[in-house]
Amino acid sequence: MARRTKVYEGKAKVLYEGPEPGTLVQYFKDDATAFNAEKKAVVDGKGVLNNRLSEFFMAGLNAIGVPTHFIRRINMREQLIRAVEMIPVEVVVRNVAAGSLSKRLGIEEGTALPRPIVEFYFKDDALGDPLVSEEHIVAFGWASQQDLDDMVSLALRVNDFLSGVMLGVGIRLVDFKIEVGRIWDGDFQRLIVADEISPDSCRLWDVKTGQRLDKDVFRRDLGDLADAYTEVARRLGVLPSNATHLTKPTLIN
Ligand code: UDP
Repeated sequence: MARRTKVYEGKAKVLYEGPEPGTLVQYFKDDATAFNAEKKAVVDGKGVLNNRLSEFFMAGLNAIGVPTHFIRRINMREQLIRAVEMIPVEVVVRNVAAGSLSKRLGIEEGTALPRPIVEFYFKDDALGDPLVSEEHIVAFGWASQQDLDDMVSLALRVNDFLSGVMLGVGIRLVDFKIEVGRIWDGDFQRLIVADEISPDSCRLWDVKTGQRLDKDVFRRDLGDLADAYTEVARRLGVLPSNATHLTKPTLIN
């Protein structure tokens, strides 16, 4: 195959030009970063797992009418996606207090919230992705009020879908982050879910034991990140069939 033209490289993914206009190829790397890339590691197999898991969530969302950028998976590490104009805002939905919310407001981690809380963070590594209000977003032109309303409604639909899917396999969806992009159909524009949905961008706790099955395992040195993501994939039935390299070597007698 001809060498692909790289369009963008981020911390965990690379985007290449797609085979047709309006498409991109999204490649999932094994790199793990936290705390604004101050902590870094390579986690063997993470990219393969996140490619599968993001496919699973995005395809499920597409199937229930929540539009996403996902078109189809190409191979172990790549998927074909729609090219979008990214809104420079991260949308976080929280069901249970954890992470920065607990720290900022002094609410104990694990406290169930009275309703899902939607927050916005301005995507700017140099500023450390600060929390911003709708007022900031509209005033600085990052998105319109209509876009914000659409983003909240998308985020809440994703929350309902993901919470249900996770609960079905004994996992509590504590919080997650999505990113949203704009696509144009002729003169019309609409917002769709973009980027990725994976344990890199969610907090997932085992319902019974509270065991962390997400990137906090890496952030807080709680164990093996690939093992945690493999467990999520296994429960959801989306483990790649030829992922033998992801399992520990077994002695053959
Ligand atoms: N999150 C993310 N990318 C970011 C910041 C947060 O995917 O740049 C996710 C994070 O994994 C968690 C949720 O958004 O599921 C809320 O994160 P929080 O604000 O608590 O920040 P953190 O404690 O991760 O710094």
